[in-house]
Amino acid sequence: MILVLKKTLSEAGIENVLAQVGQLGFSAQVFSGQPNCLVVVAGDARNTPSHLFSRIDGVEKLLKVGPACPRVDSKESKPIRLANGVTIGGGKPVIIAGPCSVESKEMLLDTAFACKQAGAVMLRGGAYKPRTSPYDFRGLGKAGLEHLAEAREKTGLPVVSEVMSIEQLEIACQYVDVLQIGARNMYNYELLTAVGQSKLPVLLKRAMSATISDLLQAAEYILLAGNESVILCERGIRTFETYTRNTLDLSAVAALKTLTNLPVIVDPSHGTGRKDLIRSMSRAAIAAGSDGLIIEVHPQPHLAMSDGAQAITPQELTAIADDTQKIADLFSQDQLFSPVQANSNLVAVK
Ligand code: PEP
Ligand code: MN
Repeated sequence: MILVLKKTLSEAGIENVLAQVGQLGFSAQVFSGQPNCLVVVAGDARNTPSHLFSRIDGVEKLLKVGPACPRVDSKESKPIRLANGVTIGGGKPVIIAGPCSVESKEMLLDTAFACKQAGAVMLRGGAYKPRTSPYDFRGLGKAGLEHLAEAREKTGLPVVSEVMSIEQLEIACQYVDVLQIGARNMYNYELLTAVGQSKLPVLLKRAMSATISDLLQAAEYILLAGNESVILCERGIRTFETYTRNTLDLSAVAALKTLTNLPVIVDPSHGTGRKDLIRSMSRAAIAAGSDGLIIEVHPQPHLAMSDGAQAITPQELTAIADDTQKIADLFSQDQLFSPVQANSNLVAVK
């Protein structure tokens, strides 16, 4: 921790700062500088609330030394290995596809086989659905998870499904390969800790108004609780634009690739809300360095019980899978999936 002192501070004022830092249990050293003197606090002050330093008379601002998210920041590459040889973050972009909601066993099985045929290596499907209106279809619950497990068994595709509570998490762990934390729960720190204590990989979606830093800190909660397998997902953020459902922030993908080695995937379905934009944004996402795509697919989008406007058909998915392969081939692996490049260790405390 470094304290930047006010420019006008007298010798006595500096002595007072040192005394107050001492009262907090830390020793410190002054470095006279122009225009500001700096006080370097020795020892680990991470667990001391920063306002205890910033409120000291004569302190202008604090600089924290060291990463805000040491686990997320780790330079170690962490590809996530799932059943049937599926690896996320291993250099080859993956396609996760399936319906927004599991609607019935038959519909899910049809969609799963069609998605696999189109090039998907993993199946998505909501059993517990977060809906803006409480009158909308909220998913089949446990029955939906059972259908997912059956689809997994029949197709060999690992499955991912969302959980919104600790009770749902306990049930879902028996059926799915990857737990999804949706945009609405990215800030649910109890749930993040609970999935962090589970043994399953977690697909963590960015909240609608989350900054990149908020997303990384949410991931840090999961890692801190003991789970190293976290996949980050950019799914669009809320802006003033209304033509698209959300604004897909592809700069976040490029930024995340410089900030962490956790795999990053993109959801162009919720990111745009429009089926006519899914293919273009999928191409852009892969070119931006995404480790994969998660796309909503429905055999009859006009009949979908949720998010029909953004659902594409399995045929359309085939074209996206082809594009993905071509773009991945076009760029050398090194260019497309560059390792962590830069990270500032000096974070100004607000
Ligand atoms: C979903 O993937 O079905 C979903 C609800 O996504 P999000 O949490 O990103 O809105
Ligand atoms: Mn959806």
